[in-house]
Amino acid sequence: DGDSYGVLPRPCHALVLLNPQSGSGRALDDFQAVVQPMLAEADIATTVFITERPHHAHEKVRDEDLSQWDTLVVVSGDGLLFEVVNGLMERPDWKEAMKKPLCILPGGSGNALAASINYYAGYDHVAKKKLLTNCTFILCKGLYTQMDLVSLSTASGKRFFSFLGFGWGFISDVDIDSEKYRWLGSARFTLGTLQCLAKLRVYQGRLSYLPVAAEQGSAPAPRDVPAPVTNGRVPEPAGTEAPGSPPPDSLLVPLGQPVPPHWTVVPEEEFVLVYAIYQSHLGTNLLMAPAARLHDGCIHLFYMKAGISRVTLLKLFLAMSRGTHLDLNCPHLSYVPVRAFRLEPRVAAGIMTVDGEALACEPVQGQVHARLCRVLSG
Ligand code: ADP
Ligand code: MG
Repeated sequence: DGDSYGVLPRPCHALVLLNPQSGSGRALDDFQAVVQPMLAEADIATTVFITERPHHAHEKVRDEDLSQWDTLVVVSGDGLLFEVVNGLMERPDWKEAMKKPLCILPGGSGNALAASINYYAGYDHVAKKKLLTNCTFILCKGLYTQMDLVSLSTASGKRFFSFLGFGWGFISDVDIDSEKYRWLGSARFTLGTLQCLAKLRVYQGRLSYLPVAAEQGSAPAPRDVPAPVTNGRVPEPAGTEAPGSPPPDSLLVPLGQPVPPHWTVVPEEEFVLVYAIYQSHLGTNLLMAPAARLHDGCIHLFYMKAGISRVTLLKLFLAMSRGTHLDLNCPHLSYVPVRAFRLEPRVAAGIMTVDGEALACEPVQGQVHARLCRVLSG
């Protein structure tokens, strides 16, 4: 597939979006000390845009003339890249805009995509300055590839494009509760995990999904056309969408209606956590989905049923630092690769997160959109 890979031109001009408040507040210092000298060697010129508030980067890339830049570089955590992706998707010319290669340089406390890309590139597990150096080296090499995004829709009518994951329950609580320990850097998650273990909660709701396996099993795709990820549902007829409107979710039915009959509904309705992840890492030290790749067309769905003991939960989290949690064969933990999912909380309790950012608790569903954007990937 010829469109899958590309290389940045030289010389090349990068727009750098930098959040000075991300992580422990050293993003600008690290950028000047570590990143800029390497980029200068690689003939990559930079224009730095320092964000002054939440949503600033979103507005910047939504309104920007992108033709002047060869790549958009985010120096922050996953949160700022989430703003950039969604700002680009709001543009009437999103199809063109999403061809602009994106790059993440870890400056935040949650750097899951950077850790994932470091892992896909085959580098040793590293954190902090070493991870920043590896990611900068990837930018210097200039090779990019396509990345899947997941479209998430909520009952109140919000729609997001997500590159990392959607979560509810335990892990999301840790993510948001530990924001107050941002100064600790990534250690904030270790402290947060121990605190949330102490007050372990159960979340009630219904989880449904469209397994990847459902397509390969009972109803084989016709041979004459390449199999799209529409799984039996009729795709929107071409030309019915207004030009520039965002891509339709062909696998989903409205949240008010029951899920299609070929979906799976999880019989249990009490969970400790639900996490739909599309990258390997959930944090620099959490290898949650070792099989995930940038454009595998897959949502890696994990859920943990209520009744698990604190000791087992702690063991699973410790194993997750090496990605060996599934080897423990814990009956409370399930893993299934899916194309789409729906989560309907019974009451508005617990925190939901999209790419590490908090979301009000309400029914949500999502589906994968394969290869919707491009990222520097080594
Ligand atoms: P971290 O990993 O440290 O959480 P993120 O990149 O996720 O770093 O950023 C956290 C939040 O900070 C994002 O939601 C972003 O909108 C917000 N933000 C961006 N610029 C600023 C700023 N100048 N001051 C405060 N918050 C900001
Ligand atoms: Mg964040």
